[in-house]
Amino acid sequence: MEFTRLRGIGVSPGIAMGEAALTERVIFTLRKDYIPPHRVQEELLRLKAAVDKTREDLVELKNKIREKIGEEHAFIFDAHLMILDDPSLAGGLERLIREENVKSESALSEVHDHYQKMFDSIGDEYFKQRKSDVSDVLTKIYKNLESQSEEKVDDTREKILVAHELLPSEAALRLSQGNILAVALDMGGQTSHAAILARSLNIPTVVGLHNITQKIKNQETLIVDGTDGEVIINPPLTVQKEFLGKREKYDNYRKELKKIAKWKAVTLDEVRFYPMANIELPEEISHALSYGAEGVGLFRSEFIYLQRSTLPTEEDHFEVYSRLAREAHPFPVYIRTIDIGGEKNLPQLSIEKEPNPALGLRAIRFSLGHRELFRIQLRAILRASIQKNVRILIPMITEVEEIGEVKLLFQEVKQELQDKKIRFDPNIPLGVMIEVPAAAAISDILVKEVDYFSIGTNDLIQYYLAVDRSNEFVSYLYKPLHPSVLRLIKFVIETAAKEGKDVAVCGEMAADPLSAMALLGLGLKKFSMNPIYIPRIKKALRAVEYRTVRRVVNQALTLKTAQEIEEYLIEKLLVKHPNAFLMIGPAS
Ligand code: PEP
Ligand code: MG
Repeated sequence: MEFTRLRGIGVSPGIAMGEAALTERVIFTLRKDYIPPHRVQEELLRLKAAVDKTREDLVELKNKIREKIGEEHAFIFDAHLMILDDPSLAGGLERLIREENVKSESALSEVHDHYQKMFDSIGDEYFKQRKSDVSDVLTKIYKNLESQSEEKVDDTREKILVAHELLPSEAALRLSQGNILAVALDMGGQTSHAAILARSLNIPTVVGLHNITQKIKNQETLIVDGTDGEVIINPPLTVQKEFLGKREKYDNYRKELKKIAKWKAVTLDEVRFYPMANIELPEEISHALSYGAEGVGLFRSEFIYLQRSTLPTEEDHFEVYSRLAREAHPFPVYIRTIDIGGEKNLPQLSIEKEPNPALGLRAIRFSLGHRELFRIQLRAILRASIQKNVRILIPMITEVEEIGEVKLLFQEVKQELQDKKIRFDPNIPLGVMIEVPAAAAISDILVKEVDYFSIGTNDLIQYYLAVDRSNEFVSYLYKPLHPSVLRLIKFVIETAAKEGKDVAVCGEMAADPLSAMALLGLGLKKFSMNPIYIPRIKKALRAVEYRTVRRVVNQALTLKTAQEIEEYLIEKLLVKHPNAFLMIGPAS
């Protein structure tokens, strides 16, 4: 038994040791599962049944899409049907099963690999798209094989789940069973569904391990360190001891977080502030509340689209929103209408690739260009609003006309519901994200049109400073404390205050202690962030006096650079409130 350490991306903190359980559903790895020659005929029938079921699924999907949003969007399924019925695909699969005596899954994996390599070698954009279409079709066949096999999500023994990747449905099924100690995946990133779900269920998870499924056998011992992004296979005793020490420190850290979560959100001089959560999945809500969130400040609803292969129905939307409202009650839930387009492409629609996606047809621009989809979402939000704690947030507003169009559409949808005698909250509040500098500059005009603002600093800073938020080459220029940024945010906060309207910040800036203090000093009271950061922000803001921070930040605004501001804030606030900077963190 070989001792190996693997590095990946830690996407859900915590550390666990246990027995590996390699999921049988490893998709498209090139491991071969052989069958005896007398089972070949049976295997071919199994494959045929899965292909037939896939055909039925595709036809059903196509009809649904045609009905819902029109013929022009249904053609993608014609392309998929053509791939499915391409004789060279079926012939290739059959030949592999017959000649190599392998299971259909292995044949599909080999054919998948062949097509991926072939399309990669062509390197043309059009063929790149065809590559994912082929992958999509083969995945569908694969999944249909599974549902026809007798495989069950087996016993309830505690184990560490090891897989190539976890599709959203699989992640929900397996992780919610309560016996998964940790997860280790070949694929995946921070925002994959599996990662988000694991975080909300407190299951330590490391993804992006490339080939752990090939390095590990069932029942071997594993340590998964989701905090440091490391997986240890067959750890010797000395390493196991180290693990126990680390786990104890982590457990203490968690206890401290939970303790802080219960503290009241007030500054030293009793000024109330409100920590809220940014979430992407309804499953995250209980986790957010346990960290002390007083509501969901930002629900990124595009995840409803990104996690399924078909377009969500009004009922799909409604189920999510009403669950959020119910579980967050009495706290508010701000549902942001989809921020899709540009980079976050909808897998269900083939959207034209844009040369400059960050400045393209995204968010509200996309919704106003795809009104049928937008109406479905608005209807579902309205229906969920009978619970009274639902609010709407419109992303990427640039000009006042867009708000006018949204309101008109909103009014039409309300009328439709009224005509059908479907209940909703007629006074459901409507607010906008301030994340385009132009919107910030005219916030005194916009404020008259809406009930509140939520400042999306991630994009606001990107556009204001002309620094791509995800480009590491220019990340040195991405400065939340840049004097221009603070002046702009100050203007928005004061504008809202003058009109007696609410204002929150829901970008990453709210989760950084020093920046959060700067925001508090500008008069902000609502801070929405990834729930795991709520305790540290609560701890930092509880350690300062509002009136002192106000004074210090006002003074800081006279300085010339982000660095001067940062140094000044640390110096002045540290002297007065040293506790604010005693950070918490899992000691490693
Ligand atoms: C933002 O831009 O600050 C924001 C919260 O939205 P997102 O990160 O989803 O773009
Ligand atoms: Mg944004």
